[in-house]
Amino acid sequence: MTGPLDTLITGGEVLLPDGPCRADLGLADGRVAGVYAPGTGPDAVEVIDAAGKTLLPGIVDIHFHVRAPAYPERGTVQSETRAAAAGGVTTLFEMPISKPCCSTPEELAQRRDHFAQNAFMDFGLYAAPGDLTVASRDAMMALGCIAWKIFTTAPPPGRADEFDGLAFPDEADQLRALTLLAGTGLPVVVHAESAQLLEHFEAEASRLDPADAATHGASRPAVCESVAVAKLLAMNMTAQAKLHIAHVTSAETVDVLRAFAGTSDFTAETCPQYLFTTEEDVARAGVYAKVNPPIRHQADQDALWQAIEDGVINYVTTDHAPFSHAEKQAAEGNFPAAPPGVPGIEFILPAMLDAVARGRLSLGRAHDLVCANGARRYGLFPWKGALLPGSCADVTIVDLTDETALSAETLHTHAREVAHLFEGRRLQGKVCRTIVRGKTVFEDGRITGTAGGGSFVTPRAEK
Ligand SMILES: [Zn+2]
Repeated sequence: MTGPLDTLITGGEVLLPDGPCRADLGLADGRVAGVYAPGTGPDAVEVIDAAGKTLLPGIVDIHFHVRAPAYPERGTVQSETRAAAAGGVTTLFEMPISKPCCSTPEELAQRRDHFAQNAFMDFGLYAAPGDLTVASRDAMMALGCIAWKIFTTAPPPGRADEFDGLAFPDEADQLRALTLLAGTGLPVVVHAESAQLLEHFEAEASRLDPADAATHGASRPAVCESVAVAKLLAMNMTAQAKLHIAHVTSAETVDVLRAFAGTSDFTAETCPQYLFTTEEDVARAGVYAKVNPPIRHQADQDALWQAIEDGVINYVTTDHAPFSHAEKQAAEGNFPAAPPGVPGIEFILPAMLDAVARGRLSLGRAHDLVCANGARRYGLFPWKGALLPGSCADVTIVDLTDETALSAETLHTHAREVAHLFEGRRLQGKVCRTIVRGKTVFEDGRITGTAGGGSFVTPRAEK
């Protein structure tokens, strides 16, 4: 290239695919221009001093919910992508739950345009397979959906619109969906809990104290998840989809994943709420900690960490799902009535960095879990998920020695007042700056990006 770089980030450690390395990083035209030995980089218009800091490829969260443009009271594309920027995230993949559900080409096109005008960072959009026709599938593919999502559960009461074309409680429909979507080569992400077992356990739990946190766990015990996952993995031996199991929570499901290893192309994720909290935190935070599937026991958390160590689970995603304070508050003391979801987009990276500081895993492995592996699975690596010449200039600068304290005052999510599950935690590791396509969108606690500054990421995006 000729002329100076746009940006040179000097003095830091850069996380490269084979580990952290002292280097200067050059950015130009929204891409990584080069990785240079310290002090040897070319001239640049802007020089960022990152002495003592670590440069990570910007985090890619493959499981995120805003539901926009519906339900602005729960958070908007602007508010939640600002929060994502504060969390060090540079690319997020939005799930199709909305009103109406993102299960038609028309709705997908509308959401794409809405996100393009409002997102502070790059975004991909999931589609639900809707009417399970080839025509609808191909139209959504042509629009550039990043992947597919289905639920094996029935729509929650009163929320049929949001799950129309997304929820397939019938096993024949699940097999039809997997088979139809296998032909696209895109990941098929499944929320796996057995609809029939849920019906049974919810009826049983209706006799328990609705204010008791244990009631929620009893209404959706681990067997609901493990049975649904086992059936999906057996089905996928026939369907041959590129299957991805969402938010694994339990030791039983980890055993199922192990038992089916090698039988088809499948991967699995878990989330910070399952890795860093247990039922005791749910008892403390009440309905604000209600998520589906539920947060379980210490033994389950231990099994999830073991699965990460063994390579059985290779993805950690947020399942960020904000609800309004009014909605959660109205259901205080009533777990069955409370809406399920927690806002985790500002927790995930500091929590993983804290786990690194505690010696639980290496920085490289932590980053693979929250970024590079997702970029690989969705066909975007090394354009996303790496800092190599030609990669997208998405950079998250962190201080591994500084601390993050999460509170309603410091959080950017619109759901900051319902973030009781993670509130009060002090984590070692702090997001200092977030750069999307070469532009700083977050710096030292302040949002500096602009609405509409992000780009639509498709499976065939320029790489
Ligand atoms: Zn989700």
